[in-house]
Amino acid sequence: MPQYHQFDALVVGAGGAGLMAALYASKGVNTAVISKLYPTRSHTGTAQGGISAALGNLEEDKWEWHAYDTIKGGDFLCDQDAVDIMCREAIDAVIDLEHMGLPFDRTPDGKISQRRFGGHTNNETKKPVMRACHAADRTGHMILQTLYQNCIKNNVKFFDEFQVIDVLIEDGKCNGVVAVQLATGEIHVFHSKATLIATGGFGKMWKVTSNAHSLTGDLPAAVLRRGLPLEDMEFFQFHPTGVYKLGILLSEAARGEGAVFINDKGERFMERYMPTLKDLAPRDICSRCIYTEIREGRGIGGKDYVYLDFRPEQINKYFEADGNPKRIDAHYLETRLPDIIEFARVYQGIDPIKEPVPIQPTAHYAMGGIPTDNDARVLADETGRIVEGLYAAGEVACVSVHGANRLGTNSLVDLVVFGKRGGIAMAEYCKQASFRPIHRDAAAKAGAAQLDRIRNNNGNERPHAIRKEMQAVMDEKVGVYRTGAGLEEAIDKIHELQARYKRIRIDDKGFKWNTDLMEAWELGALLDLAEVTAFAALARTESRGGHYREDYPNRDDVNFLKHSMVWKNGTITLKYKPVRITRIPPQERKY
Ligand SMILES: Cc1cc2nc3c(=O)[nH]c(=O)nc-3n(C[C@H](O)[C@H](O)[C@H](O)COP(=O)(O)OP(=O)(O)OC[C@H]3O[C@@H](n4cnc5c(N)ncnc54)[C@H](O)[C@@H]3O)c2cc1C
Repeated sequence: MPQYHQFDALVVGAGGAGLMAALYASKGVNTAVISKLYPTRSHTGTAQGGISAALGNLEEDKWEWHAYDTIKGGDFLCDQDAVDIMCREAIDAVIDLEHMGLPFDRTPDGKISQRRFGGHTNNETKKPVMRACHAADRTGHMILQTLYQNCIKNNVKFFDEFQVIDVLIEDGKCNGVVAVQLATGEIHVFHSKATLIATGGFGKMWKVTSNAHSLTGDLPAAVLRRGLPLEDMEFFQFHPTGVYKLGILLSEAARGEGAVFINDKGERFMERYMPTLKDLAPRDICSRCIYTEIREGRGIGGKDYVYLDFRPEQINKYFEADGNPKRIDAHYLETRLPDIIEFARVYQGIDPIKEPVPIQPTAHYAMGGIPTDNDARVLADETGRIVEGLYAAGEVACVSVHGANRLGTNSLVDLVVFGKRGGIAMAEYCKQASFRPIHRDAAAKAGAAQLDRIRNNNGNERPHAIRKEMQAVMDEKVGVYRTGAGLEEAIDKIHELQARYKRIRIDDKGFKWNTDLMEAWELGALLDLAEVTAFAALARTESRGGHYREDYPNRDDVNFLKHSMVWKNGTITLKYKPVRITRIPPQERKY
């Protein structure tokens, strides 16, 4: 007999989005959170740079400027009503976090401190504006701790180290999930009126990635297998500053504090490409400029990386050249960027105070994901039909506030704004809804069968070999630069890997803490997401934001100012829906 649980509201994922949703749902109804990681190990805890809100604590700022920057940064693919909500509600959300106890850095007069970040500007002067609220370079860590403590205080029930492998959907309505308790291998059925998916990103499709090992897209794959679509999967962000070869992120906060890119000639090359914002241009642009430098032979020593230079005396020179009166020293950087500096010291053996740091673009953030409306309700199709009882928020969702490219610090704010809206919407829904009947034994059996197929398979293929080949083809053909021919090759390769995946064999046949089994299961999810990503990328014959087609280098608003929706029911189907443009007509993207 499976273990059985019943809660009004269920949240899958204990990152910033999941915890915020759980906190607000628990103010109204009985709420539980299921997480495959111990909650405070969620990827939100690695976010360094900050959370944006137009507080205007250090200089003039307005939420409308934040919205404009977000829409322009997203290459005009954002749904503008959602962006307006995010940027307006960001201000209260940050103050809400402060009141919950988040220890933000302070200005001398006691306000929340703010710093500059890529693409965030004063719309009048076009210069960078200080909009990112931060707690040193541990902002995400502090958000996660603060929200977790508040959830505990609010009696949210936690199921830690339970991995969800299926979503119960019947007649277009969601009734809960099926999970495996990792410590025992037991199957648990969770029955709910409302379920919110907040499982974060899925960057492990790529090898060079800033994403944690756990970001394997389990839930997007599960909803895809249940016949629901994913939105804008072709848009994945490559962050310019990954640690060379490892992909570990050195936050954009470094450039927010004055660091710049330099090439083999010691040249500050961003000046040539983006004369106004320079090194603080949006990430998609910076990543392409870095590759252009490398392709034209100006990578360091002719290799495939450039430097991030944050030596204090150099930063002061750049400030002087930019007419910025600010001056800094090593102590300032050590206080503002302690983790980033330590990462360079630990992972690269380089002291960034004394030497420039080798970096290369790294797969970082999913702009696409599970389509939702502005209250985090999941959409069943391109017409906006709702899946009753199913919600999604955070990186896994596509609402779509980031369009084709996300600005730095806009994810943390997306988590808290839409996590909260989702939590409130769930509580309201649960109060008037009743539990729909489920077939708990059948649900448990189907879940167990998914795992048994892998556990008992006696093929000759090894999951790690398949994963390696998938990541290699994604890095090479579905990366910063894409072509039609390359994407077709990637799709063929993924199909080959999916066929081989059916013949995998694992060594550990047990039930307790079977990471061998769960990693093999996760690989199946990643392969499905890789397939739909490459498919949507092949169909989009234009370049926009994070999706750059060398064979179609221009943005094509006539044919592609629209969101893609992809289904995988045996074969892959693509449909499109219009972008909601309420205030700002698409313009050329110059910085
Ligand atoms: C290194 C790094 C630095 C970043 N810095 C910033 C920054 O400074 N500012 C900013 O705005 N954004 C930043 N981002 C992006 C931002 O941190 C993420 O987009 C965001 O934290 C995602 O939060 P989330 O709540 O959606 O999911 P996550 O925090 O990723 O949490 C996912 C949760 O889902 C759970 N889960 C996953 N699969 C399952 C499953 N099958 N069953 C049960 N539970 C599951 C996990 O246990 C986890 O609790 C950064 C990202 C990275 C990788």
